[in-house]
Amino acid sequence: MRVIVQHIPPETSVDPSGSFSKGSGEIGVELLCVVKAVLKKIKRRVLVGDKVLVGSIDWVDRRGAIENVFQRKTEILDPPVANVDHLLVLFSMDQPKIEPFSLTRFLVEAESTGIPLTLALNKSELVSQETLKASDQLLQEIKAWKSRLRSWAYEPIFCSVDSKRGLDTLQFIMREQTSVIVGPSGVGKSSLINALRGNKHILGAVKEQNSFDPQILGSKWYEEQRVGEVSVRSGRGKHTTRHVSLLPLPDGGYLADTPGFNQPSLLKVTKNSLAHHFPEIRKVLKDSEPAKCAFNNCLHLGEPGCLIKGDWERYPYYLQLLDEIKIREEFQ
Ligand code: GDP
Repeated sequence: MRVIVQHIPPETSVDPSGSFSKGSGEIGVELLCVVKAVLKKIKRRVLVGDKVLVGSIDWVDRRGAIENVFQRKTEILDPPVANVDHLLVLFSMDQPKIEPFSLTRFLVEAESTGIPLTLALNKSELVSQETLKASDQLLQEIKAWKSRLRSWAYEPIFCSVDSKRGLDTLQFIMREQTSVIVGPSGVGKSSLINALRGNKHILGAVKEQNSFDPQILGSKWYEEQRVGEVSVRSGRGKHTTRHVSLLPLPDGGYLADTPGFNQPSLLKVTKNSLAHHFPEIRKVLKDSEPAKCAFNNCLHLGEPGCLIKGDWERYPYYLQLLDEIKIREEFQ
């Protein structure tokens, strides 16, 4: 496991022999660490993004041992990342086009973490380029998505890695935070990570958990994210992201690439919590206060005294997800 040194207590002597190479014992230095047996014994997992206490440090070989894990602010389990401040849900306007049910799944999964989220729609230049050439039809598509997503209670950011549209806004939102980008394959997650990092090869990432491989330390694991080609037949990108990593951003903060989120599992969502992960429903329930659904465990399926009618766009998606979760809960 790789750990970036963030703080060295003043009493720590990092250079007793004076023979260390320049840069040893500094903030930002990367150490290859094992996890102490005592932590494994109490089944204390160490996640990417964790703040840890490191001892037994060998500054020459840049090795150490993780002795303790500080309390987490937040925790995502799939994939495992600790201390995430912000989720960026990324879809693309075209190649591949937005599938509303898939977008809903990602949004519900993101909402279920309780972590603030931003929704961004990439490749927006594809739509406007076409518009210039042809009619207003495709520009209307952007407008239509804007108002559609507003009715879902989201304010999307239209961006384009190619034309750089919206990147400064995303950079601003992500500064000084630990963000995770989630979204289906091919929408431009790796391209966006490269663009937001300015393609700089900055050493300082925390890598996947089981990465105790001394060979990797010398190699270019911190190279650019691999950008996949979109296959012509399906319009979907090939899955080329190889690992979970936390990469430093030029304006401070970190950005994680999380391939495990390509298929939201919804494992944290229960049938009773599902409705709360639809902000348009949260709003209706809030606006109706102090009135409440007659039943505490109302699933909004037409129960007597229910405040939620089935007249909202995502109601069919809600029902579909509810069925899926009910089946899962029955077999748990
Ligand atoms: P990921 O699977 O979500 O990580 O997607 P990638 O970053 O690998 O990108 C998939 C494909 O989309 C690549 O061919 C990129 O060059 C392309 N791509 C990424 N961003 C844009 C964009 O803003 N506009 C266009 N036209 N293509 C893009």
